[in-house]
Parts: sequence; structure tokens; C-alpha cells
Amino acid sequence: MANVKVAIRVRPLNAREGVDGGRLAVQVEDKLVRIKNTKLDGRQDVHGDSREKVLEFGFDYCYWSVSPEEPHYASQEEVFQDLGVSVLAGASEGYNVCLFAYGQTGTGKTYTMMGTQDSMGLTPRICQVRNRFLEIYNERVRDLLRGRERKKKDSLRVREHPEKGPYVQDLSQHVVSDYKQAVELLEEGIANRITAATHIHDASSRSHAIFTIQYTQAILENNLPSEIVSKIHLVDLAGSERADPHYCRDRLTEGSNINKSLVTLGIVISALAQNSQMSSSCQSINSVASEGDAGSTVGSHTSSLSGGGGGGGGGGGRRHCFIPYRDSVLTWLLKDSLGGNSKTIMIATVSPSCRSYNETLSTLRYAAHAR
Ligand code: ADP
Ligand code: MG
Repeated sequence: MANVKVAIRVRPLNAREGVDGGRLAVQVEDKLVRIKNTKLDGRQDVHGDSREKVLEFGFDYCYWSVSPEEPHYASQEEVFQDLGVSVLAGASEGYNVCLFAYGQTGTGKTYTMMGTQDSMGLTPRICQVRNRFLEIYNERVRDLLRGRERKKKDSLRVREHPEKGPYVQDLSQHVVSDYKQAVELLEEGIANRITAATHIHDASSRSHAIFTIQYTQAILENNLPSEIVSKIHLVDLAGSERADPHYCRDRLTEGSNINKSLVTLGIVISALAQNSQMSSSCQSINSVASEGDAGSTVGSHTSSLSGGGGGGGGGGGRRHCFIPYRDSVLTWLLKDSLGGNSKTIMIATVSPSCRSYNETLSTLRYAAHAR
């Protein structure tokens, strides 16, 4: 498995999008996503252009979940068979694995990661032994499973162990022995996330929820019992509608923590993808998307990165990008599962509707940079 894999999932039209005939902006064919600007209707866009544009992006997996009646409809089970099985395979090979859902609010991140009662998502399907559940809101870490213990602290500290890497101090851990208990924990954590939402408007789309599974395997090494421990992070990210990867320099100083963490995550992942490409074959770093604009945006990421660490696209091959893990709590906490000896999977969720053209295009670009 490559170190970074990217999937796109297109959800069904909702009632609001259906009223005007439900015109679609997005099309999926095999591993390609096409997006068409049908909004113009003969009018001009901000650049004075009235032509209908079709842009094309390639990904590792494309899931069309628009209508269950269609033959190529991608169900929760299908998504699990690809991504969930990759997560478990990576962990069983001893890798740390991070799978996260990125996308505009209302496009299906939580549906994909958690699912509903009738339609289980990735996390309950992946659930195994030891689980922690936390939330990052405004760069502060909250324990979503602390209610069971008397000692209550609202915000926890992130620290770094010299060998084991970053961790959250005092975060509760819960041992479960079967799948049912794991799902109960998950539900408790989700309920805590929703309680918080009564204090803060729409908190679930403003915080990142990280569900961590410690995957322990008992093995025999030279006839002695030993164990391999790997971590699985399953992340339901804050809504991306506030993030814009194209202006990362400005946005980083803007002080918006959601933007900052999503932009940092994008920079970290694209830097990792570039580093692994450079290590493996010294390929050109700009062969990311088939779309011209996306290519140039990758270029701008690269230039902001090379300022920090001297990486870049030169033919040197050995020069690696600086990876700014510590620029956000999210990337710092996930450091041991992003890059190095780890596997990363992103599933970017989008609406099929022409009403969401701009948000969908920016999600596709963000996802395309990650490869
Ligand atoms: P997000 O977490 O990105 O804000 P949600 O997961 O809450 O979005 O999804 C918004 C709504 O769309 C929910 O009612 C959800 O059940 C529905 N939905 C999202 N994706 C799908 C899908 N692939 N199939 C069916 N329903 C979906
Ligand atoms: Mg959600």
C-alpha cells in the first residue's frame, strides 16, 4: 500500500438540492471525478468567462453514493472493504494508520466515519481492542469519554514523549473485549460531542473528533512471547468550508484554528507525499492532478514549504521538505501516524449538486494535493 491514499465519496442529493431538479455538477468514472460548472447558465463568472468548464481529477478510489438504485452505488460495506480493510491490513503489518474524512459540512464525513444506526460507518466496523476518543476544538483537546471518571478536566495537555512521540496527558483509555462494547464507547463519545454543541453553535462541524484504537498483536519472537503495537487514528474533521488551501500563507496568520489545522494538515500530507515520491523514484512533484490550476497550487505549497526546510522540486532527489507538524494540535497529535513508518488515507466527501460547485471544487483540489 502506498503511504498516502486518497478517496472521494459523493453523497445523495438532499431535499434542498433536489427542489430545482437536482442538477449534478459531479460525475464519477472509474478513478476519475469530473466537475462541471453548470451554475453559469450563460452568465459570466468572476473572471468574465461564460464558458462551461469541466475539470478532471484522479484519485485512488471514487465512491458514487448518490442513489442506491444505481448499479455502481457505493455502500458503507464497499467503502469498508477498501478503506477499512486497508486500515486493518496496515495495522496488522505494524504500521500506524491514520484515516480521516475531509469535506464541507453536510457532505457525509460523519456518515462515512460513524454511520447511522441502520448503516454503520467505518469506525464501528474497524473497532478493536483499546480505544480513546477525543475532540480538538479551538486548539484545545477534550476527552470525549471522561464522563465515566470523577476527575474532570476540560482541556488536556498535549505532550511529547522522547520515544513514543506526542500524546495527550490524562486522556482516558478504555479496554473493550468485543465489538459491542466498542460501539457503546463510540456512541458515548458522539453523545458528548453533541452535548457540547448546545453551548457552541454547530460544534460538531467546528471540531475534529479523533477516535484512536491501539492495535496489539501477540507474536512469538525467537520463541519468546512479544507484541507488536500499532495505532489507528480515525478522524472526523471539522467542516472544510472555512479552509482554503490556496491562500495558506495569509490564512495561517489569520488566527482561525480550523483553517489553520486543515491547512496545516494539507501541507503536511502533500509534503509527505512529495517526500515519499522523492525517496522512491525522484519523480517530478507536480504530476499531482491533471488539472492545470491544481498543479500550480501544489507549486505554491511547495514554495512555502521549501522556505522552511529547503525541500523543493529540484532533481536532487534526496532533499526532503520540512514537515510543519507542530503548527497545529491536530497534526502534532497525529504525527506518529502521518509520515515515517505509517499509512495515511483521506476520504474527501462532496455533494453532487451544482449548488455546491465552489466548495466541491475546493475539496477536490485539497484532496488532489494530498497525492
Ligand atoms: P458531515 O459530517 O460532513 O457534516 P453528515 O455525515 O452529517 O455530514 O451527512 C449529512 C446528511 O447526509 C446526513 O443526514 C447523512 O445521513 C446524509 N448522508 C451523507 N452521506 C451519505 C451517503 N453516502 N449515503 C446516504 N446518506 C448520506
Ligand atoms: Mg459531521
